[in-house]
Amino acid sequence: MSQGLVTAAYIIAAVFFILSLARLSKQETARSGNYFGIAGMALALIATIFSDQASGFGWVILAMLIGAGIGLYRAQRVEMTQMPELIALLHSFVGLAAVLVGYNSYANADSVALDMHTIHLVEVFIGVFIGAVTFTGSLVAFGKLNGRISSKPLVLPNKHKLNLAALVVAFLLLIIFVKADGSTIALLLMTLIALAFGWHLVASIGGADMPVVVSMLNSYSGWAAAAAGFMLGNDLLIVTGALVGSSGAILSYIMCTAMNRSFLSVIAGGFGTEGGVSDSAEETGEHREIQPADVADMLKNASSVIITPGYGMAVAHAQNAVSEITEFLRNKGIAVRFGIHPVAGRLPGHMNVLLAEARVPYDIVLEMDEINDDFSSTDVVLVIGANDTVNPAAATDPHSPIAGMPVLHVWEAQNVIVFKRSMNSGYAGVPNPLFYNENSYMCFGDAKATVEQILKAL
Ligand code: NDP
Repeated sequence: MSQGLVTAAYIIAAVFFILSLARLSKQETARSGNYFGIAGMALALIATIFSDQASGFGWVILAMLIGAGIGLYRAQRVEMTQMPELIALLHSFVGLAAVLVGYNSYANADSVALDMHTIHLVEVFIGVFIGAVTFTGSLVAFGKLNGRISSKPLVLPNKHKLNLAALVVAFLLLIIFVKADGSTIALLLMTLIALAFGWHLVASIGGADMPVVVSMLNSYSGWAAAAAGFMLGNDLLIVTGALVGSSGAILSYIMCTAMNRSFLSVIAGGFGTEGGVSDSAEETGEHREIQPADVADMLKNASSVIITPGYGMAVAHAQNAVSEITEFLRNKGIAVRFGIHPVAGRLPGHMNVLLAEARVPYDIVLEMDEINDDFSSTDVVLVIGANDTVNPAAATDPHSPIAGMPVLHVWEAQNVIVFKRSMNSGYAGVPNPLFYNENSYMCFGDAKATVEQILKAL
C-alpha cells in the first residue's frame, strides 16, 4: 500500500476515533460510537499491516490471532462488575508496550537521522518512563479493584518526598542519558525508578479516590501510546494516544469535581485515610428491618419514587428486575425516576450502562445534580446496592474520610429503603449513618432476589 493511501486511511481513522468519542459521551448515541471506534481501529490496522514500512507479515498475523483469541475469550466471560479491573489490566499492557517499543527504538537508534538523534533519545526516555509508570500503576489498580490488594491507601513515611525524589533522579538520568548519547545504565536505572514510582503512586491512593485512579491511568495509557507513536514515527498512534490521554484527563477532572476534590490532592494520595478506614460499619444506633411484601405496600401507596442504584445492583444483576418494577409502577401512574451518582458502581457510567441494558427509558435516569433537590418531595427512595454514594456523613460529618464528597440526599425523602445483604460499609470502608435514621428501613438479602419478591407482591 502506498504511503499516500496509508496517510489517507490514518486521517479517516483519526476522524472515526473523534466521532466515536463524541458519540460515546451520550447514552443515546453510545452504541454507534462503539461502531465508529471499531471501524477506525480496523482501518488503522489494515493500513498499518499493509503499509510498505511493515514486514514480517506472517508474524503479525500470528500475533494478532493469538491476541484476538485471548481478547475474545476474556471479553465473552468477563462479568460487568469485573470490567474496571479488566480495563486496568489492559492499561498495563499499553504501558508495557510503550516500554518495549522504547527499548526497541533505543536498540535501533542508529537508523534515526543524525539531526533527529537527540530528540529521538528524549522521546525514548520519556516514552519508557510514562510506559513503566502506567504498567506498574495499572497492575496495582487491577489488584485493588479485584480485591487481591487492599483498597486502603499505602502510607509510607515521607511519601511525597519519595515521589519528588523519584522525579528528580529520573530527570537527572535523562540529562546523563542524552549527554552520553544514549546510556543503557541510565535507561535501565530510570526504568526501575519509574516502575517503583508507578507502583507507589497508585498504592498510596485508595478508598473513595479509586474512580480518579481508573480515569487517570486511562489518561496515562493514552500518553504512553502517544509516546510510542513518537518513537515509531507513527502519526495515527500519536493522535489516538493524545485523544485517549486528553479524554482520560477530562474524565479525571469530571470525577474530581464530582467528588469535590482537587486532582493534585488525589494524586498526592490520602482521601479516605485521615479518618481511618474501617472494614465494617460501627453501630451508631438501632436499625429497622422491612420485608419485601411491606415494601410493595409502601410503593403502591406512593405517588413519587426515586431509585438510587449502586455497585450492589451490578453484583446482584438486579437491573432487569428493577426495570420491571419501574415499568409496573409507572403503568400505575406512580412517578419513578433514577438518581445516578457520578462514581456509583466501579466504572464511570456503570449504572447508566446497566439501566440502558435493562431498557430503562433514558429520560427518567437523572444525574445527581439534576435530582438532588427533589428527594425532600419524594415519598419512597429505593437505595439498591448503593452505600458510599448515599452516605450522609459526607455532607454532615466534617471528620468523615469522605467529608465534602457530594452525595445523593436520599435521607431527605419520606421513606428510604436500603437493599443490601448486611450492615457492612461500602467500598470506601466508611460507616453509613443512613441505616440508623428514623425514616430508613433495611431490606436485607441479595438485591435481585428481594426486588423480585417485591415485584411478585406487587
Ligand atoms: P459501594 O461500593 O459503596 O457499596 C455497595 C454496596 O452494595 C455494599 O455496601 C454491599 O453491601 C452491597 N451489595 C453488594 N453485593 C450485593 C448484593 N448481591 N445484593 C445487595 N447488595 C449488595 O457502592 P456505591 O455504588 O454507592 O459507591 C461506589 C464506590 O466505589 C465509591 O466509594 C467509589 O468511590 C468507588 N469506586 C468507584 C469507581 C467508579 O468509577 N465508579 C471506581 C472505583 C471505585 P453488603 O455487602 O452488605 O451487601
